[in-house]
Amino acid sequence: MAIQIRSKTLRWLIVASTVVIAIIVFVQVFWLQRVYRLERRQFNINITSGIKGLVHNLNLSSHGNLNFEKDVELVIPEDYLLKIDRIPALDSASSFFSQELTDYNVLTDCQMSIYDATQKKFVASKYIDMPNSYTAENDKFTTPVFKKQYSYISFYFPHRSRYIIMQMIFWIVSSAILLLVLIGFGISLFYLYHQRFLNETQKDFVNNFTHEFKTPLSVIKIAADVLHNPAITEKPEKLKNYAEIIISQTTHLQNQLNRMLVIAYTEHSTLPLQKEIFDANTLIQQAVNNINPLIEEKSGNLTIEFGTKNSYINADKSYILLAYINILENAVKYSVNPAIRIKTYVEGNDFCTSITDNGIGIDKRQQKKIFNKFYRITYGEIHQSKGFGLGLNFVKKIMDAHKGNITVESALGGGSTFIIKIPRH
Ligand code: ADP
Repeated sequence: MAIQIRSKTLRWLIVASTVVIAIIVFVQVFWLQRVYRLERRQFNINITSGIKGLVHNLNLSSHGNLNFEKDVELVIPEDYLLKIDRIPALDSASSFFSQELTDYNVLTDCQMSIYDATQKKFVASKYIDMPNSYTAENDKFTTPVFKKQYSYISFYFPHRSRYIIMQMIFWIVSSAILLLVLIGFGISLFYLYHQRFLNETQKDFVNNFTHEFKTPLSVIKIAADVLHNPAITEKPEKLKNYAEIIISQTTHLQNQLNRMLVIAYTEHSTLPLQKEIFDANTLIQQAVNNINPLIEEKSGNLTIEFGTKNSYINADKSYILLAYINILENAVKYSVNPAIRIKTYVEGNDFCTSITDNGIGIDKRQQKKIFNKFYRITYGEIHQSKGFGLGLNFVKKIMDAHKGNITVESALGGGSTFIIKIPRH
């Protein structure tokens, strides 16, 4: 059996993976920085050790022991200046220093220059070309001159940064590969999510509409049954009434079909709305007319208390009608002898409708869940009533799209009140 991961689970997986990827990248950057610092330090140690060796060998320091803090100055990261008391022969100094660099395995070129304080310029310069250095030939550079009061040897490493980076090449390449793998992983996960999401949206869409077609069809069926009774001809008023119900339901179905086609060709994740200004009280009356045959079938009754004349709202008329029908249909479906009370009122900018029934009620713990897709409460015998657990979820979606809301107040065995609030503008 194929394992189906729902898009919601997948979304959590994506969030978790993003966090993990972010942590990995962070750790990787942290380590790269650390390795860079270590390499830089190692470079420094090697060069200063080389200079130390040179000083001892050529006896360049007048005061015997070299005082690094005072006699060697790192003016810029690439340039070490060694204070000297006398000008040495550059050839022997450079060949010795080249040997030191090889010993310490520092394979980057160095420009050695001697600065004479009396002449205030470089008096000699020698380029130490290290074999296997990572530098290209003909690299152009000039050794910076630092005008000092004393004479010095400048050890200038023009390619220091590149050399350090090349020392880290293994780390950099492995990090880059890891990053590429992670990016690839992220893209595939997102692609999977997108596919699954589209899939589910399509399924929801089909489910919702199948659900919405069921009520009008059952109303038509009841009306047709009544019309089928020969006695109806003696009650022309009733005949007209039921014929009108069939006409209005078929028109409703036709409208639904048209909408379905429109929605099927748009890729919206939320419901696309066609807003217009209309009288919500009239719409409620229309919903009641739609559902009336179901109430009559159960010998129930329904009362409406229009508590406000401020009932014009700017919303999607057919979706709001569907929302009312869904709530009313449930009120009938989950009551044995339906006695339904509808009240309308205004609260701030919201047009509110409360629909109260005397049905089986909903346990407190279930009240949040009934708005979830496919959620149905099973009570044993009463749950003979058919349904897919989609109606309230669809109503919630309609409310969300309107920035309105739906809430329920209920107690098991004590009936339920659904309250719908829709912003009027
Ligand atoms: P369906 O009615 O198709 O099962 P809904 O999404 O409309 O799906 O409702 C979800 C569940 O909420 C129902 O299965 C039912 O248990 C409960 N419910 C909804 N409306 C009422 C109501 N008026 N009274 C009692 N229970 C209700």
